[in-house]
Amino acid sequence: MTERDAYDVVVAGGGPAGAAAALALAAAGRSVLLAHSGGGPAAVGEALPAAARPLLRDLGAESVLRDEGHVPCQANQSVWGSPELASADAIFDPHGHGWHIDRPAFDHALRTVAAERGTDVVQRRVMPSAARRTEDGWTVPVCGTDGGRDVRCRWIVDATGRPAAFAVAAGARRRGFDRLIAVHLTLDAGDPAAEDASTLVEATPDGWWYTALLPRGRRLLVRYTDTDLATACELAAPDAFRARLASAPHTAARVAEHPFPPELRPRRAPAHTAFLDRPCGEGWVAVGDAAAAYDPLSSQGILTALYTGLRAGRAVDAALSGDAAAGDRYAEDVRTVTMAYLRNRLAYYRAETRWADRPFWQRRQGGGADVGPGLGSEAGSDAASEAGSAAGSAAGSGAGAEAGSEAGSHTGADLGADAGADVRPVTSAEA
Ligand SMILES: Cc1cc2nc3c(=O)[nH]c(=O)nc-3n(C[C@H](O)[C@H](O)[C@H](O)COP(=O)(O)OP(=O)(O)OC[C@H]3O[C@@H](n4cnc5c(N)ncnc54)[C@H](O)[C@@H]3O)c2cc1C
Repeated sequence: MTERDAYDVVVAGGGPAGAAAALALAAAGRSVLLAHSGGGPAAVGEALPAAARPLLRDLGAESVLRDEGHVPCQANQSVWGSPELASADAIFDPHGHGWHIDRPAFDHALRTVAAERGTDVVQRRVMPSAARRTEDGWTVPVCGTDGGRDVRCRWIVDATGRPAAFAVAAGARRRGFDRLIAVHLTLDAGDPAAEDASTLVEATPDGWWYTALLPRGRRLLVRYTDTDLATACELAAPDAFRARLASAPHTAARVAEHPFPPELRPRRAPAHTAFLDRPCGEGWVAVGDAAAAYDPLSSQGILTALYTGLRAGRAVDAALSGDAAAGDRYAEDVRTVTMAYLRNRLAYYRAETRWADRPFWQRRQGGGADVGPGLGSEAGSDAASEAGSAAGSAAGSGAGAEAGSEAGSHTGADLGADAGADVRPVTSAEA
């Protein structure tokens, strides 16, 4: 591949959002450079709801789910609102089963499809703070191991994930909504005969736990809590992590057959809700987590990344064709999805009534931002981000979060699917 000096669009970031944007732009005949730094979150596995199927079809990328590494997810279980285990079978989902995906393989496959459609895909870092506005677009430095060079483009898509590096450099403000953090471990394969391939979400007084089977029989175990509700030592120490597992007996039973070496250290990742005050500006647009990052309980992160990538790609194409209102329509799309997400988030956290006196639940059941005055929404966001990056890790984990009904009666609807009625993006295939 010969890299060019000028493109219609540079996409910064090669996660699902960046790849989706590149696919939509390439389908519209635009020249695209997708630069991914390659040093992204060390994703170990995430739940992809079945509703991803129509979105991937719209992107012409259904083939990415054929990888043998992705494990079908036939049921979501939860202990939420009561100590009883409730189950939601994929048989009741009109889209079929979801997946426990191998994230690196999934992301790589999406970028490969984008390259096959004409996108120039390179492993390089875009330098957002050094991007310069020109008369007809941008000059942006793009750096790799072989040095850097300037690339000219008319639009930039910020798909850098939670840092929203380009949008923030362009003056947008990132708003944090809570201080949720994920503390996670990947356990080696246990006894295959004893395995339960359902996802499991279990509420506890200071947060919730998640476990799911990963490709090749490994198991992901995640504790979600607020950064200020656990000491740094407790978050990092294997013994303390294990001791906390006692508060989630169903989860403890699920992982019991897996080897659990005492020296295995949990890692941390920011998992708080955060969004930009504006997802687009003059010549730039933010997609995926850069535009709006959601609580993993929703299991909506990858779906939203694909959806906003698709919509942003189409909006940029329209803007390049002279449609001055395309950016505003995209911003309205993001707002609609985020408002629906926040309504569902409130409903699901309110469905757990056993610990209404505990800060973790009180913060989420009031309906507003969970970070108090003084902390400020951005500080809340930053605090959680720092906690995650300080540990030098980020998790792909998941919450195919079956969280019961608003009344807490466990109707068997999972948040990803249930939110679908309200949150799930409508794709052209469905419309
Ligand atoms: C603990 C946890 C569990 C989760 N579980 C689930 C789940 O079960 N299901 C689900 O759907 N979602 C889940 N999510 C959310 C999901 O991981 C994200 O929503 C999704 O990864 C967002 O995709 P993205 O493309 O926007 O960003 P990312 O996947 O973060 O990709 C951004 C990419 O951009 C690259 N990059 C950054 N800066 C630059 C730069 N300057 N130049 C070039 N490249 C750059 C990074 O290296 C990275 O590869 C979870 C999140 C967390 C934290």
